[in-house]
Amino acid sequence: MNVYDSDRMQDLMENIGYETVDTPEGADMVLINTCHIREKASEKLFSDLGRIRPHKDKMKNDGSQMIVAVAGCVAQAEGEEIFKRSNVVDIIVGPESYQTLPDLVGKVIREKKKQINLDFTPNDKFDVLPQSKSGIGASAFVTVQEGCDKFCTFCVVPYTRGAEYSREVSKIVDDAKRLVDQGVSEIYFLGQNVNAYHGLNEKGEVASLAKLVEEVAKIDAVKRIRYTTSHPRDMSEDLIAAHRDIEKLMPFLHLPIQSGSNNILKGMNRKHTRQDYFKIIEKLRAARPDIGLSSDFIVGFPGETDKDFEDTMDLVRQIGFTQCYSFKYSPRPGTPASDAKVQVEEKIKEERLFELQKLLTEQQSTFNQKSEGQTMSVLFEREAPGSGKAKARAATQLWGKSPYLQSVIVDVASEEEAKKYFGKIADVKILKSRPSSLVGELV
Ligand code: SAH
Ligand code: SF4
Repeated sequence: MNVYDSDRMQDLMENIGYETVDTPEGADMVLINTCHIREKASEKLFSDLGRIRPHKDKMKNDGSQMIVAVAGCVAQAEGEEIFKRSNVVDIIVGPESYQTLPDLVGKVIREKKKQINLDFTPNDKFDVLPQSKSGIGASAFVTVQEGCDKFCTFCVVPYTRGAEYSREVSKIVDDAKRLVDQGVSEIYFLGQNVNAYHGLNEKGEVASLAKLVEEVAKIDAVKRIRYTTSHPRDMSEDLIAAHRDIEKLMPFLHLPIQSGSNNILKGMNRKHTRQDYFKIIEKLRAARPDIGLSSDFIVGFPGETDKDFEDTMDLVRQIGFTQCYSFKYSPRPGTPASDAKVQVEEKIKEERLFELQKLLTEQQSTFNQKSEGQTMSVLFEREAPGSGKAKARAATQLWGKSPYLQSVIVDVASEEEAKKYFGKIADVKILKSRPSSLVGELV
């Protein structure tokens, strides 16, 4: 979602004549988009601001002005405090009000005053955003839903992103049509709770995410559809059936559970049990036997015992994931869990994270190994990072994604040859697997 928002802010600024540059040195404006989900993510802001200061000072000494804007969820959560902690900052703008960024920049220049806007206006936001130009490739994100009403006890999202909001079906279909006209083949629906989607269709009826997938799948040039992030509570029957019936819906699902222990799930206010999760996975696998599964885990949530952690390990062993994210619990100010008296020691959190990640990495490697010898359809997006640079790699390397969201790399003769494949889907025979990618050849 932050990548999507950053691209939209870039579009907004380019619309009023700004150009994107690679370095803060000499830039008229520096925009930092921020994440507040864990402490480490939000602390990064202040170290980044420290690095920008000398560039801003130098421009001032040279008689020009650098405007520094802080956007995103740290801006939303900390507001005016950011001005107090760093006088480098000129603008603070939240994730639901960044469409006003050009106005705020204008005011800083004209009125020579710092500006802040933390309003929640997702409706306005999507209506006034310029048509997307940035971040357009083979695959494009489309925000379909924002915000969260679930209030898990560890999480800041309901406070920083506000209440659940779904965009209308027709607006999303229009976005998808415009994107495929620009060469996009894969539409990636985004939402903090994407499967809680409940946007209105043209008849004024409420449409589910499954219905939305069905509508967008009707667009010929859309070849693949994905969505993230889902919540187990909203994994409805029609969405499970869509994985069976709609071929363009990719066989991959990121479905965070957070913990395998019912005690911890209760403390987290997740409102689902481990049994509910097993049931969903069983239905999904019945609908689409090859589906690749991913999840998020938090270790060291307040009160987590060895037994609770073992329940998580057991769940992971039983399900078998293809890739996952896992984090140490990070107490976030203002969330109920941060006040709990029984916080887990840092050392134990580290040990548990290590053990869990070891298992998850093994599962990912096993899944990738099973791909060896198979032929898969791969959507090629760009050259592989470092392609052609390393001596060992005389050839140009193409980078793409398998249906199961694995990174796939193939060699092609030249850069010109590579470009022909951008945005195209081609069959690839997998020759070799690595822990987090596959190497193959074009068939
Ligand atoms: N809406 C999604 C997740 C959004 S937040 C869901 O409900 O599953 C993305 C992930 O960040 C979460 O799944 C969780 O694993 C992690 N996360 C959120 N708050 C956290 C915290 N306080 N400490 C550690 N990880 C956290
Ligand atoms: Fe955060 Fe997801 Fe829970 Fe909402 S459902 S509070 S976004 S973890």
